Amino acid sequence: MVMTKTQSQHTEHTTRHHDIIRITPLGGLGEIGKNMTVYEVNDDAVIVDAGFKFPEYDMQGIDYVIPNMDYLDQIKDKIRGILITHSHMDHIGALGYTLEHVRAPIYASKFALGIIDDVIPGRMKPYETRAVQAGDRIKIGNMDVEFVRVTHSVPESMAIAIRTSEGIILHTGDYKIDQTPVDDKPIDLQKFSALGREGILLLLSDSTNAEESGFAGSERDLRSTFDSIVHESKGRIIFSTFSSNIHRIQQIIDAVAPQGRKVFVDGRSIISSVKVARKVKIMEMPENIFVQQDEMGSVPKDKMLIVTTGTQGEPMSGLSRLARGEHDFVKITRGDTVVLSADPIPGNEEMVARTVDNLFRRGANVFYRREDKVHVSGHGAQGDLKLMLSLTRPKFFVPVHGEYRHLLWNKRLAESVGIPGSHVFILENGQCFTVDSEHLTTLKRIPAEGLLIDGLALGLPDSPILTDRARLAKDGILVSVVSIDRMTGKILAGPEIVTKGVVTDDDAILMDLTREMKTYIVTHRNKDAGTTLDLQLDLRKFSAKYIYDKTHRRPIVIPVILER
Ligand SMILES: [Zn+2]
Ligand SMILES: [Zn+2]
Repeated sequence: MVMTKTQSQHTEHTTRHHDIIRITPLGGLGEIGKNMTVYEVNDDAVIVDAGFKFPEYDMQGIDYVIPNMDYLDQIKDKIRGILITHSHMDHIGALGYTLEHVRAPIYASKFALGIIDDVIPGRMKPYETRAVQAGDRIKIGNMDVEFVRVTHSVPESMAIAIRTSEGIILHTGDYKIDQTPVDDKPIDLQKFSALGREGILLLLSDSTNAEESGFAGSERDLRSTFDSIVHESKGRIIFSTFSSNIHRIQQIIDAVAPQGRKVFVDGRSIISSVKVARKVKIMEMPENIFVQQDEMGSVPKDKMLIVTTGTQGEPMSGLSRLARGEHDFVKITRGDTVVLSADPIPGNEEMVARTVDNLFRRGANVFYRREDKVHVSGHGAQGDLKLMLSLTRPKFFVPVHGEYRHLLWNKRLAESVGIPGSHVFILENGQCFTVDSEHLTTLKRIPAEGLLIDGLALGLPDSPILTDRARLAKDGILVSVVSIDRMTGKILAGPEIVTKGVVTDDDAILMDLTREMKTYIVTHRNKDAGTTLDLQLDLRKFSAKYIYDKTHRRPIVIPVILER
């Protein structure tokens, strides 16, 4: 039999029983967002998750940030699949961009695949998919991959176990330990324990809530709160949560159904995820419970539940528009009850607070505080994380999915359950490493600075575009246009000056500057001081200094010279 080169190499590895493992975190370390990790075993590789991150406050106008994918280009011939742990945007939001680098099948749960189809732009379709479910153990290339059920705030979340000759690599994905979840499919603790007995070489575990003591708590705990809120509500109930939190939506619907309330689902993302959930049969309820917009008028207020998005105070969301009285067809009135079933993501507190204020102003009763117990996190607290560490007893541990302090706390938790600190590694994005049964060795760090997405444009975070935007936001812009004779240098028209965010249009400073510029150009011409470009640079300096002297502002100054 003729053996190809790769086949003979594989045989060699198997006989030596010594897999070469290389792991590259491209996102999700030192940050919450844009999760992406590359696992290479010999000549095969898989990518786990491809998420985006919402921009930081100083990134003006940036829609989101995606992982740096240069490394994927280098190894694209060995990538056999893109594996998705669950359908949150910090795990799937960059899939469209990933497919531009790597055309490999996407392995995900049925629910996740439904959501993913909404995320991937039309031009990247069709793409290959493989539906997998918890319990599946499959070959991807030559890699031995098993999906293990976890519980999180989105259905069908899975951990991923990769078996190698050196031991098992276990990537938990986002999880908490929920033994009484709404879908009666608890986290598979027996499997984690069995994997632990089999021998876990390396654990990469969610660190999001590693600062929080105790346990995250079960999703089902919310039901009694919802029941009592529903019981006391005399008017409409408006319920706001993350669109992908199907079990929470199921629970509020279950709570209102006995009252004979009808349900209206408001907002594109939530309509879409409810549709996917019903299609893959993880959400079940009578068809006639849902009403459309045109039927709402005929339903009495105390028979109405509106499920909407906007828990983060996003200005265009359903809830924000309700709060501002700008919703197309629903007006909040006295007697309405509003439930914000989510915690504000750090950075969004202010917008959430404004939304709550406005809802109260319009007469609604709003449940949103921690004490109201209308939300539980989908991420494990210290108790959950320690249980995972104890069950899996990894040789090496890399905390992931967290800012630095979260990773550090997760390291402390590992030490507290007896994992030596020297076996726990707090790494940064781009810090690739190898691991075998004896050692975890970091390699030369590769570039992993995220890419900024603004519409279609890409750029790095130190892009001058951002500096310009920051200046525009802070000090405004000044544009002057002057038309001069190419031959004589005489002013034919202008200068006309337009500013935004510097001074008002009728400000005397502008008239003075116009006059001064005119004089400057004439003097410049008389001195015969070089080219038009020189004049442009000089004019910029001149106007910038003039404006600074008068206003102490440093706007972006753009002098335009038209030569005729
Ligand atoms: Zn998640
Ligand atoms: Zn996540």
